[in-house]
Amino acid sequence: MNCLFCRIIAGEIPSTKVYEDENVLAFRDIDPQAPVHILLIPKKHFDSILEADPETVGMLTEVAKKLAVEEGIAENGFRIVINTGDEGGQSVKHLHMHLLGGRSMEWPPG
Ligand code: 5GP
Ligand code: ZN
Repeated sequence: MNCLFCRIIAGEIPSTKVYEDENVLAFRDIDPQAPVHILLIPKKHFDSILEADPETVGMLTEVAKKLAVEEGIAENGFRIVINTGDEGGQSVKHLHMHLLGGRSMEWPPG
């Protein structure tokens, strides 16, 4: 298995987990870009959102909303990002959602 996030799911690479169910794993980003920076991934491998079904994308979104409340960033606001492909800045080719919060975000993104 050469997918980094599949290896994290399998427990071969350690991560700081914040949520897990049978379909979704969420863990803290190793290089946080905000006070709260969580990655949410489906346990089933999809290269990107282009391959994923709506149910999977919906599950990630629902967990992100729940974690935003738990992490205390729902009230002030937060950002959900799904980088896709090379120009989208996707470095890990396993669908993942970034949940970022705890500071003011800028727009447009870089
Ligand atoms: P992308 O650039 O593909 O949208 O996001 C990949 C994210 O994965 C980056 O924010 C990066 O810091 C994070 N990341 C890369 N390797 C690891 C790792 O081994 N553990 C964790 N927790 N995060 C990682
Ligand atoms: Zn994978």
